[in-house]
Amino acid sequence: MIEKLIADLHSHTLASTHAYSTIYENTLTAREKGLKILAMTDHGPQLADSADILHFKNSVKAIPDTVNGVIVLKGMEANFLPGGKTDCPPRVYRSLDLVLCGFHRGAMESQDRDANTDIVLKAIQSGSIDVVAHPGDPNYPKDLEAIVRCAAEYGVAIEINAASGAGSRVGSNEFCLETARLCKKYHTTVSVGSDSHFMSNIGNLRHAIDIINEAGIPEELIINTSVSRTLDFALHRGHPHVETYFRYLENQL
Ligand SMILES: [Zn+2]
Ligand SMILES: [Zn+2]
Repeated sequence: MIEKLIADLHSHTLASTHAYSTIYENTLTAREKGLKILAMTDHGPQLADSADILHFKNSVKAIPDTVNGVIVLKGMEANFLPGGKTDCPPRVYRSLDLVLCGFHRGAMESQDRDANTDIVLKAIQSGSIDVVAHPGDPNYPKDLEAIVRCAAEYGVAIEINAASGAGSRVGSNEFCLETARLCKKYHTTVSVGSDSHFMSNIGNLRHAIDIINEAGIPEELIINTSVSRTLDFALHRGHPHVETYFRYLENQL
């Protein structure tokens, strides 16, 4: 049974204009709730209310390793695009710490289950994403079993999104549970995030933890269960900047 997670790996700041807090404010909440790591994953540049690509490129230079004592992973929630492409260019992907990818209205809309599945499989296979964000979203039907199996094969994580089950994506609960059960079946790595758009929601992971426990996913599959698991996952996905956090932690000892 999972009781607590030390990382929130999906959050938004003012850089997504439909979110309302700064990274400084978000880390204050993260610290209050005992988190060690917060991933800042604003929406990719394809969405009209997203920041310019420069925002992402500059984040690794401009934001310190830790803010308010919390390690800040500089990431992006990229958009799936037709053909399995994303709006995170390869060089930006490599320079960041963690890249989620999801379907979003405004980037593309599709009710075609086979086409949606194909897009996600291609993106996983191309090595251009680390985490499939909110796969249980019923607005984008897909073959969850094929996706979870493919993610396991390519070392990509599947997200259990705490906001989906809490009402952000109506009708997603059964798909989130199905996704979690499939992750257990195929030993697929799991990432958990609040998908917070306001500071008070940072670290609100309860819904995701309940789903994980109902599905019986073992602790070792969940990257949010320890600092080293989170950082090892990000580093091995091909993000050399993550080494800076290991150095930071060494200096703390
Ligand atoms: Zn999203
Ligand atoms: Zn999000």
